[in-house]
Amino acid sequence: MPATKDYYETLGVDRKAKEDEIRKAYRRLARKYHPDLNPGDKAAEERFKTVQEAYDILSDSKKRQVYDQYGFYAENIPPGGPGAAGGAEEHTYGPDMGFGGFDFSEYVNRGQRGGTGAGAGAGGSFRDIFSQFFGGRNHAETPTEPERGSDLEYSLSIGFWDSIRGTQARLAISRQEICDVCGGSGSSGSGSTTCPECNGTGNVTQMAGAMKFQLTCPRCEGRGRLRNVCPKCHGDGRIGHSDPVEVRIPAGVQAGDRLRVPAKGNAGLMGGPPGDLYITVRVEEHPFFRRNGDNIEIQVPITVSEAGLGARIEVPTIDGRALLKVPQGTENGQKFRLRERGIQNPRKNSRGDEIVQVTIKAPDVHNERTRELLRELGQIEQEDPRQDIWSMV
Ligand SMILES: [Zn+2]
Ligand SMILES: [Zn+2]
Repeated sequence: MPATKDYYETLGVDRKAKEDEIRKAYRRLARKYHPDLNPGDKAAEERFKTVQEAYDILSDSKKRQVYDQYGFYAENIPPGGPGAAGGAEEHTYGPDMGFGGFDFSEYVNRGQRGGTGAGAGAGGSFRDIFSQFFGGRNHAETPTEPERGSDLEYSLSIGFWDSIRGTQARLAISRQEICDVCGGSGSSGSGSTTCPECNGTGNVTQMAGAMKFQLTCPRCEGRGRLRNVCPKCHGDGRIGHSDPVEVRIPAGVQAGDRLRVPAKGNAGLMGGPPGDLYITVRVEEHPFFRRNGDNIEIQVPITVSEAGLGARIEVPTIDGRALLKVPQGTENGQKFRLRERGIQNPRKNSRGDEIVQVTIKAPDVHNERTRELLRELGQIEQEDPRQDIWSMV
C-alpha cells in the first residue's frame, strides 16, 4: 500500500501557505535535487520527482482544493461539489467506514439518508466521481512528448595569451546522453515485471479522511505489470557521461564572455533535440599587460633626461617591441597612444590601441657626477614648481 503523500510536508510549507511561498519552496528544492546537479544520484532524482508532483498539485488552486479535501488528487474530481458535504460526511461515516474496498451503493444510500441538504446533493456527485475512477482513467506511465535536453553551463579559465590569440580547448563535460542500450526508450525488450506500486493487483487504496478508496493503479494503469526497465539507464533513457568536447576559443575573447556550443548540452527525451553547452570564459591576468576593453594598458618608466629632452624609446606590445616617441618636457603619468596595437575585436573587425603611461624614475644619486649635475640643474631652475598650489590654498 502506498503511503498517503503529504505534499505540504514534501515542500516543507504550512497547509495555509500562500502561492508564492509554495513557488519559492518548490524552486529551492528543485534546484537542490535537479538531476543535472546530481548526476547519477537516484535518491535525489526520486526526490526531485516527488517535489515536482507536489508542486504540480499545490500550485494549481483547483487541484489543491481537491487535494486538501480528499488527501489525494485525481483528475475529474470536481472541486467544491462534494466539498460542501465534507464536514457532514466525516462525522456521519468516518468511524465505521474502514472497509477495504469502497462500497459505492452503501455510500449513496447513506448519503441520501444523511438528511442534510448538502449531503443529499453530494450523492450524485460522488457517483460521477467514482465512475471516473472505476472506469479506469489512465495516466501515462512516462512522458511521451519529445522534450528538449537542458543546457549546460561551464566555466573555463584560459591564459592571457590564449585570450589574445585564440585557442582550442578540450573540456571534459558531464552530460546526459541517450542510453546506447535502449536507444532512449528506457525499456528493455518486451518483458515486464510486477508493478511494485500495487503488487500486481492493478489497484491501489487511497485514504481520504477515514475513508478508503480503491483506485486503478496509476503506475501500471491497472495492468499490474510494468515494462522491463533498461538495466543501464534504469528507465531514464539517458545516462550521465563524461565526454570530451573540443571548443574553439576565438582570438580576442574577454573575461566574462559566454560562448555557445550548439547541441553539446544534455540529450533530449523521447527524441527531443539536445540542449546547448555554454562556456563562460575567465582570463588569467598578465603581470604587465592590462586589458581594458579592446585596449591594452601598460606602464613604462622613463629617465629624467628622457622626460626633459624627449626620446624615442622601445616599449612592449602584444606583437613585440614598438617605438614610442616621448616628447620634450613629458610629465610623470602622461599617457601615449599606439594606434591599433591593442586587441583584435572578433565582433567588430577592428583593433584596439595600446595606451602607454610613463612614470619618471628618479636619477641615481649614489653617483657623484649625477649629483653634481643635479646641483647645477637646481641652480638654473629658479622657478618654484609649487607656485600654483600656493595661489590656490
Ligand atoms: Zn537505457
Ligand atoms: Zn500497479
